[in-house]
Formats: sequence, structure tokens, C-alpha cells
Amino acid sequence: MASARLRGRRHHRRRRAVRARNAGAAAGAQGGGAQRACSGGRYRAGQLGDRAGPSERAGMSVLPPDLDAAGFAAFLDDLRAVVGPDWVWSGDEDMHAYRDSFSPVWNTEQERHASAAVAPADVEQVSAIVRVARRHRVPLFPISTGKNFGYGGPSPNVNGSVVIDLKRMNRVLEVNEARAFALVEPGVSYFDLYREIEERGLKLMVDCPDPGWGSPVGNSLDRGVGYTMPHYRDHFGAHCGMEVVLPDGEVMRTGMGAMPGAQTWQEYPYGFGPDPSGLFAQGNFGIVTKMGFRLLPLPEYYRTCLITVPKRRDFVKLVEHVNYLNDSGLISEVEYGSPLRAKMADPQFMALITKVGGVSDAELDAAAEAAGLPCWQVELQFLGPERATWENWLHAKERILADISGAQAIEGEHFALPASQQQLDHPQQPWTSAIKRKRSLGVPSLGEWKIVRDDGHIGFFPVLPRTGEAVFEMQRVLGDAMKEFPTLPPFFNALTTPLMWHTHTFQMVFAPSIRHDDPAHNAISHAAMKKCVEVAAEHGWGDYRAAPIYQDAVADTYSFNNHALRRFHEQLKDAIDPDGIIAPGRGGIWPRRFRA
Ligand SMILES: Cc1cc2nc3c(=O)[nH]c(=O)nc-3n(C[C@H](O)[C@H](O)[C@H](O)COP(=O)(O)OP(=O)(O)OC[C@H]3O[C@@H](n4cnc5c(N)ncnc54)[C@H](O)[C@@H]3O)c2cc1C
Repeated sequence: MASARLRGRRHHRRRRAVRARNAGAAAGAQGGGAQRACSGGRYRAGQLGDRAGPSERAGMSVLPPDLDAAGFAAFLDDLRAVVGPDWVWSGDEDMHAYRDSFSPVWNTEQERHASAAVAPADVEQVSAIVRVARRHRVPLFPISTGKNFGYGGPSPNVNGSVVIDLKRMNRVLEVNEARAFALVEPGVSYFDLYREIEERGLKLMVDCPDPGWGSPVGNSLDRGVGYTMPHYRDHFGAHCGMEVVLPDGEVMRTGMGAMPGAQTWQEYPYGFGPDPSGLFAQGNFGIVTKMGFRLLPLPEYYRTCLITVPKRRDFVKLVEHVNYLNDSGLISEVEYGSPLRAKMADPQFMALITKVGGVSDAELDAAAEAAGLPCWQVELQFLGPERATWENWLHAKERILADISGAQAIEGEHFALPASQQQLDHPQQPWTSAIKRKRSLGVPSLGEWKIVRDDGHIGFFPVLPRTGEAVFEMQRVLGDAMKEFPTLPPFFNALTTPLMWHTHTFQMVFAPSIRHDDPAHNAISHAAMKKCVEVAAEHGWGDYRAAPIYQDAVADTYSFNNHALRRFHEQLKDAIDPDGIIAPGRGGIWPRRFRA
């Protein structure tokens, strides 16, 4: 079966990964088919998952908005005429693969289901599908490799949407070593791109997210992140040039791609005039069919080092120094941490770091002194010529040790690149390290699936300023707010350290698990997510990325001047896609047809 062939292209068979991917397949019976209108919200009734009564929960059959069974059948026939009968699916078994197995509303009435999926082979077919969808007024939900787990997986915003699955469009169109860029189709995974570079022996590094089975196109369109040098980690920021099928089926190219014969599509992003490429990230203005990315010339050498600082307040200065190193392009990704985490099994210590109102400097310093441990550490990574990595390390060490009393420095592993399999698989750091060797060196893997607890997780990732003070404030504010949910782990406590995924801001992680057999637990995670979004917004901290089920709530928090930004987006949406053919609701942007 065609869908099995598509799924068969997936690269890894680790038990956990397969379980997560196929988790949807465990659920059961046939659904009722007809959707049911319901009331509420800014959005038109009936489209947000309230599709059937409780007896139908486990089934998936659902129709697109405003279409009856006969209309749906006619629509599917028109799709088959475009892509061939093997590449359109609507049966329950096939549609399991398009459920969000990390959904907090798994198997409930709120779960959002696609009605069908279609897999085009090329941009002409994408265009034709959009025109068919426009004729039948059926919303499409584009996915590239559809692995957006934690942020909605492959499932749509609107119940009954048809997934346009771009995995078949999997050509690496160009990798240019001398000019350090790639041009790829949406179905190209990080594994595919890495393999192409390896097989051709090109001296280039890909900046990849944790799971390698995602795609540069899908990941960057959701503003995903990686783990190498500052200007590559922000994947949308590192893209250059895209081709897009617009809601009327027209094909458009951004930047230099708009000029026939231009040679610099993947090198100069703007071309001339306004650059609309930002509209396609976390937006719903088109389907991206090609995208360019800047690649890092393969560095000659890799070096790691650790700095520890003794006192709680030292974190403020430590952050300032690391920001300087980052902004000067001297370091790769950093991992902040606290050696005091070793004490978290001690209930008294736990009570201290989760105390209401936050811990004081004196209290944490006293606990650190009693434990004989420093309060904080940062792992630094250097990429570049061997001598430069050494000099940059010396510079970092001298700078920090001269400024922070009691700071200590330890040298870690260092070696020439490309790394050997042994170096990739068996890091030998002289400290307990949080660095994930493969992702730090741009080698895609599925190793990080081990962080997945229960059946998956949802995620709130607030953006905060890169200062120690902001970190302390977020620890306290969100730590206190989350006390309402005592069964969840204390994600925000006095030792929670920030991530430096994006070049110029910090992020913290809140990722409560979900369990397919425990709706009560899921309801707690769900409520805690919503609370986090709300409380964080009161302090000016916004989520950077969200699953469809949270996108309206998150978009609501970006409300300056009576939601001027959303009103602008919706004016544009009304102008080019009033019927909501492309992903209505994505990014909190609803076309007229779906607005209350
Ligand atoms: C354990 C774990 C670790 C993770 N680590 C990371 C990480 O380090 N970094 C990170 O960024 N993410 C991470 N993720 C989240 C996710 O797995 C990756 O971001 C993944 O790359 C996204 O899936 P994808 O590339 O298949 O994108 P898709 O699912 O294909 O796309 C994502 C979204 O973008 C839109 N879209 C996709 N393609 C198109 C298109 N062609 N045109 C228009 N819109 C489109 C759709 O709305 C889609 O839902 C992690 C998840 C897990 C479970």
C-alpha cells in the first residue's frame, strides 16, 4: 500500500521512536463520520475538535467543514485525478499516522483529526491540489516530514482538514560546498541532507534539531532550533530563499528567486522590495515547495570546556560573559547547569529550591557550601581551526576567571573533525556533561528520544532576556504559579537554567508528559500549559512555538494595540485566502470564513 511505502521510508526503528510515531495506531473503533456543530470562541463552531459524541471518540472518520459524504467523495476523486489513486488516503488505518500521538487531548472529543491525506510528487501537483481544494472549499494542512511532536505532530488546526503530505518531494536539489548552501524539497529529512553531504565527501556541517527524521523545511517553518554556531541554530533565520504555492495555486519565489536567471537565490534573501518570507513561518499563507539553507563550512576542530562559579549571584556575571562570547562568534552552543542538581533527591534540599517566593542568594549559597558544590556551571563548545579554538578558550577562561571570584575552569575533550564514530558514540568528558555530542557536531540521530517520558509531552518554551536576573525572576514566578499542579515535576525551580537555542534570547522549558491511558493526568498537563502561557504573558514572556491546540491562546498574548498584529495577518488572510484553504487557524490566524 502506498501509505505503507511512505511510512517505510522512515529511517530508524528504535522502539521508543516507533512507539511514539505509531502511537495513534493503538486507538480503535470506527468513527461516526458526520461532524457536529458546536458553539463558542472567535472561531466558527464545530471546527476545533468537537466532532462527535463520546461513543465515537476512538474513531477518526471526519468530514471537511461544510462538506457532506458525497461532496467529500467527489473531492477525493478530484485529488486522485491529480496524484493517482495510490497517493490519497482517508481510511481510519491510514489516518492513524496523521494523528498527534503527543496530544494532551488524545482520544477525547477535543482531538483534531484530518479527514484525508494526499501526497503530491512535485510542485505542479501541489498547485493542482490547491486549486481542487479551493474549488471544493476544503482546508489543506501542509506537512513536510510531519514529525512536529510536542508541537502538534502532523495533525491540523481544523477538524476535517486534508493533510498535504510532502514527503514524496524529497530531492536535495543542490548542495554547494564552495558557497556553503543547500536547496531542498520539503520531504528531505535531516538524515537525507546529512547523507548527501557525507556521500559526496563535502566539507559542510548541517545544524540539526534533536530528532534527525524531521526536515529542514518543516522544522524551520515552525522556527525550530539546532545546536551549533549562533547564526545557524535559528533555522528559519538560516534559511535563504523559498518557493511557495499560494492559496490560489500560483507559484511564487522569494528574494533573488523572483528574478529569472538570478544566481544568488540561496545567498541574498531579500531581492528587492518587501520580503514576505516571514509570513510562511508559523503562518498559513502558502505551501513551501523549495527552501534554501546556509550551511556551516565543516570546522577543523572541536573543543569543550567547563566553567563553574560558586555563588548564586555569580550567574548574572557568568551570563554576561557567555553572551559576549556568543555574540562575538567565539563559541558554539552552550549548556548551562547546576552541580547542585545532584542534591535533588534530598527532600530538604528539594523543599528549598521549590520554596514559594523563591530562594534567596544566602540560602542557596549556604546549601552549596554545605554540599561542597558550586552553584552553577556552563559547558562551552568551540568550533574552528585548532589554534583558534584554543585561543578562544584561553580568552573565555581568562575573562571569566578574572571577573568572578572562585570561578574554576576544566578542559574537556577536543579533537579534529570530522569526529570518529567512537568520538560520536562515546564522549569521554571529565565531568557529567549535558552536551549531546552528535547534535553539537551536526550529526542527526534519534538519540534524544530517551528524554520522552510516558507517551509524549507538550511544551511551553517562554522567551526571556539573556540575563541572570531574568532567569531568577522566571524561576520564581512560574515556579510559584505551577504550585497549583503538584503532581507535575517542578520544571521551574531555583536550579532551572536557560537554553540558548536562539542567538539573542534565552528560553526555559516546561514540557509535562501525556499518557494515552490517563486522561486525568493529561488534563492536568493541559491546564498547566494554559496557565503557563497566561502567567508568562503577564510578565512579557511569550511562547515561541505552540501546537495547534494552544496557538490561539499564545497568539492572544501578542496583543499590542488591540491585537494589531493579528488583525493585520487576518486582513492579509482575508485578501488572499478568505475560504481558509491553507491551514486556517495556524499561528492563530483565521480567515473570514472561520471567524465568529
Ligand atoms: C524528543 C524530541 C526532541 C526534539 N528536539 C527538537 C529540537 O532540538 N529542535 C527543534 O526545533 N524541534 C525539536 N523537536 C520538535 C520536532 O520533532 C522537530 O522540530 C521536527 O523537525 C519537526 O518536524 P518536521 O521537520 O517533520 O516538520 P513538519 O511536521 O513537517 O512541519 C512543522 C509544521 O510546519 C508547517 N509546515 C511544514 N511544512 C510546510 C510546508 N512545506 N509549507 C507550509 N507549512 C509547512 C506545518 O504547520 C507543520 O505542522 C523535538 C521533538 C521531540 C519529541
